[in-house]
Parts: sequence; C-alpha cells; structure tokens
Amino acid sequence: MSERQDQDRFQEEVSRDRGGAGQALGPGMGQGPFGLCLSTLEKFLLKRGFTLRETCDRLTGVVWTVCGRADLPGEVRYPSPAYHYNARDRGADLEAALAAAAALLGLAPEVLAAQAAGVALMPPAGFACRLCGSCCTSMPDAFRGRLSYEEVAWWRSLGLYRILRLVGVEERAGHTLYTAWKNPKTGKFFKRCPWLRALPGGGRGCGIYEHRPLKCRSFPITREHAEWSHCRAFEHFPVVPDGGERRGEGREAAAEEG
Ligand code: SF4
Ligand code: SF4
Repeated sequence: MSERQDQDRFQEEVSRDRGGAGQALGPGMGQGPFGLCLSTLEKFLLKRGFTLRETCDRLTGVVWTVCGRADLPGEVRYPSPAYHYNARDRGADLEAALAAAAALLGLAPEVLAAQAAGVALMPPAGFACRLCGSCCTSMPDAFRGRLSYEEVAWWRSLGLYRILRLVGVEERAGHTLYTAWKNPKTGKFFKRCPWLRALPGGGRGCGIYEHRPLKCRSFPITREHAEWSHCRAFEHFPVVPDGGERRGEGREAAAEEG
C-alpha cells in the first residue's frame, strides 16, 4: 500500500468513526478483535489489581510471568506472552493460567474465560479520550515494546503488510520475539510512533486504529495509570471523596454481571 493510499484509508477510518458513533478515534479507545489469549488474560489480571513480575528459568530459558494480588493466596504463572516458544503448547499454557486465575478469584474457568478478554480492553469508568496523543508519545513502550504472537498472527491473517513490515522479528534460541516498531530501512526503532497522525479536525489519533496493538487498546489499566501517564481522559470525571471512589468499577462490574 502506498503512502497516499495509507493516508486515504486513515482519513476514511476517522470520518467513519466521527460520523458513526459520534465520538472521535483515540489511541486508548474501543474494543478489539482479540479473543482470550495469555496477553489478554494478563491485561485482565492487571485491571483486577494484580501486579506482575518476570523470572527466567535458567535451565529451560523460559521467561515466566508471575501474577499476584496482596489479598489473595497463591499466584498465577505462565510463560511470558511476549515470547513465542517453539516447543511449548500456547493453548495448554493458557488453559493452565486460566485455571489458576479462576481458582484464585473463586470463579469457574469458563466464567473467567467469558469475561476476561472483554474486561482486558475496557477502559476504566469515566474514560473519555481527548485525542491528545500523549499516551503515544510519553510511553516509549507503546511503540518500542514487545508484541505478542497473537497480534502478529492476526495481522498476518489479514495481510496487513503495512503493519507487519514495521514489526521487528528476532529468532532466538527456542523462541521468537516480536517488537514494535522498527524502521525496515535501518532496522532500528523509530524515535516516535510512526502511526501517530494529526487528525483532520484537530488532535492526534492512531493511523492503524482498527488494528492497533493490544498494549494500546488496553490503555489505561486504571485511572491512576492514566494520570501517571499524563493522560487527560479523566479530567472531567471527579473522584468521589470519602473512600467512595468510582474508579474502574462501573463498566467492568456491569460486564461481569452481564
Ligand atoms: S500504534 Fe502508535 S499511534 Fe497507534 S495507539 Fe499505539 S502508540 Fe498510539
Ligand atoms: S493520553 Fe489519554 S486522552 Fe490523550 S490520547 Fe491517550 S488515551 Fe486519549
């Protein structure tokens, strides 16, 4: 696809969204196409207050992600979604992680499976993107970070070569690592996200909005995460004093009940 076609398509996407839902496209908005995978399960856990760390098994070379929450006994362990291990069964790893997370949260695995992918991509209550583009510029991890195998497989299935040509692919011993976004001419990371564009009506938006990475879709994890990242999406939404905060409980709770 030429630059011109690329730009035309971008304008079409923006016009369609502005005319349809009545709300402009922003880097942190909207639902995505991802079903349940280790990456979406991880985002779900983060949105449920879990913290995570990574640890490398020196014998096997597998990097494990370990998720825990202070009020829950036990942990959820799974191979880091950012690495695609040739010898591992990713489906079996997901199943095991799902079972562990469900047991910790007191849910049936199928109930957790039904809600995790949706919650993972759902912004906290009160989120209203201002199209400032700050999240795309202030967090280098968004455009120089790791991508999951599922994201790359999805772009491949759609033949999205304009995106794939900017994906770094590193074949390492026993696994493949995918990263965003590398200049195919130099092989180096871009200094800023190459997809961040000025919107025709003002503000900044994502040039691959409908196909943007999971990391961008799931931003922000919490209101605090947004504010820490200089995101203005909650400026209109007051915090209820006296411990009765409304942060992140509304829409996610509704999804669980549904
Ligand atoms: S791909 Fe780039 S422009 Fe698009 S949402 Fe992510 S960081 Fe922002
Ligand atoms: S920083 Fe927040 S308000 Fe600005 S574009 Fe990103 S999500 Fe929207």
